[in-house]
Amino acid sequence: MLTNPNTVGLFDKNILEITRIVHEAGGLCYYDGANLNAVMGIVRPGDMGFDVIHLNLHKTFSTPHGGGGPGSGPVGCKECLRPFLPDFMAKTPESIGRVKMFYGNFGVVVKALAYIMTLGREGIPEASSNAVLNANYMMNKLSDLYKMAYNETCMHEFVMTLEDLKHDINVSAMDIAKALLDYGIHPPTMYFPLIVHEALMVEPTETESKETLDEAIEVFRSIYEAAKADPESLHQAPVRTPVRRLDEVTAARKPVLRYTGEQE
Ligand SMILES: *Cc1c(COP(=O)(O)O)cnc(C)c1O
Repeated sequence: MLTNPNTVGLFDKNILEITRIVHEAGGLCYYDGANLNAVMGIVRPGDMGFDVIHLNLHKTFSTPHGGGGPGSGPVGCKECLRPFLPDFMAKTPESIGRVKMFYGNFGVVVKALAYIMTLGREGIPEASSNAVLNANYMMNKLSDLYKMAYNETCMHEFVMTLEDLKHDINVSAMDIAKALLDYGIHPPTMYFPLIVHEALMVEPTETESKETLDEAIEVFRSIYEAAKADPESLHQAPVRTPVRRLDEVTAARKPVLRYTGEQE
């Protein structure tokens, strides 16, 4: 099971050789659609040698993300796996039989379909191209200050590592993320993927304009300068939000989901 581009935002050009080797050893290749937003309408997973694929509709096709669902991940496969499909599709002895909720969350699938039809044959690859362009634009505008985990052209996301900053002035990825809140910017994914230390993974997506990207770039740059000038100030962030640094375990276990107007 692989994503391509992978979790650090790089397209693996060896994919045909990888899937060939797996097939030669009698294995099958499963495409995790997590990063399809970089290649939709441009590269077909089947042509990369994958036999089965799921699409994370909330990542690529504009269906709701988070809040505990509902989600949907439609699965597709090549002809060789057709006999194994659920029995409403394959009336064969090999069928895996009944699967609960055959069609998944139907309403979510309809939303994804509406999105695909709205963008159309030209709009779908254009969205991917813009997602990749936006990520590379941001990465290039930040790479003189922030250390990138991989110095290559990225796909729809890039990963920076704040290991040096943490080591030199004790400012962490968490501190930078919290400082972004003071500027009204939702922080990117933090401490993921695990193979990159002090990671911030930035995925601007196709929907951001050049203006908003430039603003985010400016904010990232100001925070870096502020960290260098006064590392301690970063440990205080956020200072302009209704609540400051929350106890993350309590926030996850006992979330306060309604605004009460009171501040604890
Ligand atoms: C997002 C992601 C997941 C989780 O997928 P969900 O559909 O959000 O549960 C798993 N693996 C990778 C590589 C991802 O990027």
